[in-house]
Amino acid sequence: MVEMLFAKADLPRRPPVRRMRVADAGHIPGTKGIRFVCPHCGHDTGWIADEWTITENRRGQPCPACNPQKWKGTDVDIILTVADHEKNGFVALARWPGLAEAEARQMIESMDAQVISDAEPDNATAAFAFILDLWDRGDLVDSGKRLLPLQDAMRIAQEPVSRWLSERPEPDDVLHRAVPALPRFSLPVA
Ligand SMILES: [Zn+2]
Repeated sequence: MVEMLFAKADLPRRPPVRRMRVADAGHIPGTKGIRFVCPHCGHDTGWIADEWTITENRRGQPCPACNPQKWKGTDVDIILTVADHEKNGFVALARWPGLAEAEARQMIESMDAQVISDAEPDNATAAFAFILDLWDRGDLVDSGKRLLPLQDAMRIAQEPVSRWLSERPEPDDVLHRAVPALPRFSLPVA
């Protein structure tokens, strides 16, 4: 009789990869887009650039929430917020989820670097100004060093910014509105 070196229950077992399923597919500006939702935890990627094969997509992508090690370092969000001084509040307009922290910081820095000094809104006099914030799982970690003028905000999030501008909602009224996720390519390459 062969003696087992390890009791069966002690054998190292790799936890199964939890995969998200395709919720939607189509086109986003400039490329193919896809949206995954995790049936285990409900994580929703929002629209992201589709860079996989049909087979890979049908099998499903590993869920970044259920398998954090699979998407190591891709767990911060950039959020574009407008400070509406006339309405005395903030409105979150767009988010870029699932970025590596270093990459997200570089993207914010390059947005800061592109702001022309004369165009930077003055917090004391401007009706509104835009800010890029860095969020890590529900915590505000950092913000851009510059306030972004309208043209810079429009360049990275045209649809949500135009919508906000035409509505000019009361910040409290839209507090619970879902913030649209935009694909990473709409931000400048770091
Ligand atoms: Zn999940």
